[in-house]
Amino acid sequence: MCELPAFQRGSDDHRRIADLEVSTAILASREQFYLGYTLLVLNQHVEELFDLDQALRQQFVEDANRIAEALNKTFSPLKINYCLLGNTLRHLHWHLIPRRQTDPTPKRPVWEDPIPHVQLSENEFRQLAHDIRANL
Ligand SMILES: [Zn+2]
Repeated sequence: MCELPAFQRGSDDHRRIADLEVSTAILASREQFYLGYTLLVLNQHVEELFDLDQALRQQFVEDANRIAEALNKTFSPLKINYCLLGNTLRHLHWHLIPRRQTDPTPKRPVWEDPIPHVQLSENEFRQLAHDIRANL
């Protein structure tokens, strides 16, 4: 994740929402069936929360909280899911997922079944990112 241009601070990627204190928020590319599905990527390469010093860890959680609040204001979902996995990409990043009553299985994690493919255009991504940024 450190090398991907989309995750760099100040990038002009159409999916980028904002740079926060210690991380960058970007819309997930293939998971917009859950509209607003956001990745929040730490700006340095660390793999585990316990490897962060306390101040940085607290700031990373604050950043996640800020995005969650913005998603809540933007979409008024039923619930926000906060997920920190890192099994595939070993770089600390939150998955922040607005969940809705209309989800196929609103009480279960989103990964139990394949996520239906919804392709947004670049302009749709930019508008969505703008709408979330406006609520930060
Ligand atoms: Zn990395």
